[in-house]
Amino acid sequence: MQESLDAIGEALTENGKVIVTGCLGVKRNLIKNIHPSVLAITGPHDTPAVMKAVHAHLPKPHDPYTDLIGVKLTPPHYAYLKISEGCNHRCTFCIIPSMRGDLVSRPIGEVMQEAENLVKAGVKELLVISQDTSAYGVDIRYRTGFVHGKPTKTRMTDLCKSLGELGAWVRLHYVYPYPHVDEVIPLMAEGKILPYLDVPFQHASPRILKLMKRPANAEKVLERLGEWRKGCPDITVRSTFIVGFPGETEAEFEELLSFLKQAQLDRVGCFEYSPVEGAAANELPGALPEDVKRHRKEKFMETQAAISARKLKAKVGKTLKVLVDEAGVGRSSADAPEIDGVVRFKGGKAGEFRNVHIDRADAHDLHGRLQ
Ligand code: SF4
Repeated sequence: MQESLDAIGEALTENGKVIVTGCLGVKRNLIKNIHPSVLAITGPHDTPAVMKAVHAHLPKPHDPYTDLIGVKLTPPHYAYLKISEGCNHRCTFCIIPSMRGDLVSRPIGEVMQEAENLVKAGVKELLVISQDTSAYGVDIRYRTGFVHGKPTKTRMTDLCKSLGELGAWVRLHYVYPYPHVDEVIPLMAEGKILPYLDVPFQHASPRILKLMKRPANAEKVLERLGEWRKGCPDITVRSTFIVGFPGETEAEFEELLSFLKQAQLDRVGCFEYSPVEGAAANELPGALPEDVKRHRKEKFMETQAAISARKLKAKVGKTLKVLVDEAGVGRSSADAPEIDGVVRFKGGKAGEFRNVHIDRADAHDLHGRLQ
């Protein structure tokens, strides 16, 4: 117990904001006496209380598209693997760089050690996250580290290769569409990592992308999507977009809808632009009324709903490998936890891989039978 109390003291000195959870949480008075500045204390397995405390003391950021600042509490069979902190981009709608600073990549040896420990502890799926996964290592010039004594570069492709050897599912999130992203497609095709890419495109109009300070070439994106699908036909591409950015004209919004129809993305999230205190985009002229933003979001989601539904329907009759999250609910390679749909069936146990024959699809989920 002394060790845990010391750890709380250390965390308070280092960070200042500490929430205590787990077995020691039942000794509330003891902790409060020794460490009165602890923000909250909860008992073991009390996720709702932890989340309540986290949100009370660390307000959620403006929108899920930047929602990386937070605490991820996960069931034992999947885990988030954070590979870096901060970001070198300066997207005008985002304040993460001003809060978190420039990109700082964790050394590859350290990331791989954590990944291995997680897999040894029973984790079946690793969700690679950061603010910009494809930039991994750029801050340390892709420094060579060691993974089991083997020289390995601190670089996304090398990381994916190493993670692909662990025997767990590996899912990539927040991949900025740099050219070298193409290098991981063969790893997906070989089944080393999941054929899933979460790439936030944000918009398709070159002018709006420029105002957002995002890479601006929708044509190239379409071309690359085509190449990715050629290299790995099973790939699932998820993306997020912002509608109602300051100055977005009706024509530019239509351009976005047309991109959406051509891109045929599997999963899409859409956010109405909302000014965040301190974001450069707030200074841009042409802020749109709330009802215009809402209407555009509805139209955007309507357009995508038809595409997603068609994509899901194409899976009826197939047998998919799923990771069971709880009895009756699992996820295939196409479904990231919390943000995508699920596969529903009767039976199964949390944490096991099962094959499910898909009988039908609804707007978001698939339904089938365990094989
Ligand atoms: S890539 Fe852009 S949106 Fe993402 S964290 Fe960096 S600045 Fe923010």
